[in-house]
Amino acid sequence: MKTDIQIAQECKMEEITSIAERYGIDKEYLEAYGKYKAKVNDSLYESLKDKKDGKLVLVTAINPTPAGEGKTTTTIGLAQALNLLNKKTFAALREPSLGPCMGIKGGAAGGGYAQVVPMEDINLHFTGDLHAMTCAHNLLSAMIDNHLQQGNELNINPTKIMWKRALDMNDRALRNIVVGLGGSSEGVPREDGFMITVASEVMAIVCLSENITDLKQRLGNIIIGYNYSNEAVYARDLNAHGAMAALLKEAVKPNLVQTLEHTPAFVHGGLFANIAHGCNSVKATKLALKLADIVVTEAGFGADLGAQKFFDIKCRKAGLKPDAVVLVATIRALKYNGGVPKDALSTENVEAVKAGFVNLQKHIENLQKYKVPVVVALNSFTLDTPAEIAFVKSKCEEMGADFAESKVWESGGNGGLALAEKLLETLDNKKSDFTLLYPDDMPVEKKIETVCKEIYGAKSIIISQKAKTKLRQVKKLRLENLPVCIAKTQYSLSDDPKLLGRPEGFDVTIKDINISNGAGFIVALAGDIMTMPGLPKIPAANTIDIDENGNISGLF
Ligand code: ADP
Ligand code: MG
Repeated sequence: MKTDIQIAQECKMEEITSIAERYGIDKEYLEAYGKYKAKVNDSLYESLKDKKDGKLVLVTAINPTPAGEGKTTTTIGLAQALNLLNKKTFAALREPSLGPCMGIKGGAAGGGYAQVVPMEDINLHFTGDLHAMTCAHNLLSAMIDNHLQQGNELNINPTKIMWKRALDMNDRALRNIVVGLGGSSEGVPREDGFMITVASEVMAIVCLSENITDLKQRLGNIIIGYNYSNEAVYARDLNAHGAMAALLKEAVKPNLVQTLEHTPAFVHGGLFANIAHGCNSVKATKLALKLADIVVTEAGFGADLGAQKFFDIKCRKAGLKPDAVVLVATIRALKYNGGVPKDALSTENVEAVKAGFVNLQKHIENLQKYKVPVVVALNSFTLDTPAEIAFVKSKCEEMGADFAESKVWESGGNGGLALAEKLLETLDNKKSDFTLLYPDDMPVEKKIETVCKEIYGAKSIIISQKAKTKLRQVKKLRLENLPVCIAKTQYSLSDDPKLLGRPEGFDVTIKDINISNGAGFIVALAGDIMTMPGLPKIPAANTIDIDENGNISGLF
């Protein structure tokens, strides 16, 4: 099998103007970035606003192994397969961050014969969106420190500044830093730190805002910290939001690219699915729904994090109604959840698949709570055995979920026909009656408890003193109506990464609460969540190279 980058480089791409034309996007709405990438401007949505929406399909997964279970690959492959069946389909994906790309996971443009291209560009800088967000984020940081330097009229308490700096890189040395050293004209010394751009509230805001006015308002609403009287200080108090929005003027426009089989894809916005809501921009999804009959989109991590937030944050805020969910499972992740160590996942082990099935089962039950039909996609790996596959199929069908094997990694759209046909059958025969998990007016603490009990399967929640104080702040600021975004490990349904399968009888401890007032959600931290990852001992960056002709190798 060729590597992802070899496959991607062999693809004879169609010019982006021609893809756009086939999908009814007029040249006047297109801003090309070279031949194969383009941004689309806001007037396109305006021109289509009265058109009926296509169907929205979310791709999510069971609790993953550390390698990822193939959601992006499945999303792209499924979109390709639907196109082969003559359904006008768009994929809507997140844009990759340089952190994972240079770190452990590698790129995020799909894999095998289900990728978006040009994959090197998409993985490395793309159209510059993440850099613009980094700039907008750091402009606010610079304005905060300048405010302290210039007399601190707002009485900002330097020890209570929540707004860190941002960088799109895995750089653990920047997690905790001291700024303002060097003397009285060099800034006010204080402790600070960096987060990775995909964890920035600026990214969440770009992903959720519907237009420039909305963007500016949300940026202004960011709470940067507190003053000496413990009152919130907003970005708008520093008058930073206008300039931040100006820096984001291009970043808010969806990026159009193509898959290996020339199916159009919006790759726009990309968030961590733990401390933020983990999906692509609302704008891209809404626009794709106007342009296609079916839109296939992905949410990060497992369904306990990604799908839950896609529904209760993104769909709630944007008024989206998903028509079906594709739940990706792999035999290796089922075995992993059944207690098999990482290095023994390649051997047939039906007993372990049976033991790990409880994880898939819980995710199916959870998705059924949202009253959206579920299709389980078994992302097939070459070493899966017929006995293992047959077991999963029969158990899924027993639960009323449809089932199909997907071989898109191996064979592209053709390998996804069974899944695409099953999905079309589901869309035709099973109606989505999409329901949110909790109402807006439920108190924040109760919302957290609802997610922990209903989705994670917790017995109860424990709220730390620190989190209790913050919850009182939430009430004082009258933010009780916001949805919650729980940040926890992706490896377990619980808050303990070692509890695989379907843990029961556990408590979830909420250590702290962060208010993402601009994005419009309350982050509840269940565990130590990293907002600035580090590089592994041998980072993916070690193998990435470029030759004298400009050909890149080693990206995967
Ligand atoms: P996710 O979106 O769930 O994190 P990705 O789709 O990015 O996962 O896939 C993670 C990695 O696994 C990628 O490198 C991809 O090429 C690889 N992969 C995905 N599906 C398969 C498969 N069926 N067989 C082998 N490798 C796969
Ligand atoms: Mg992915």
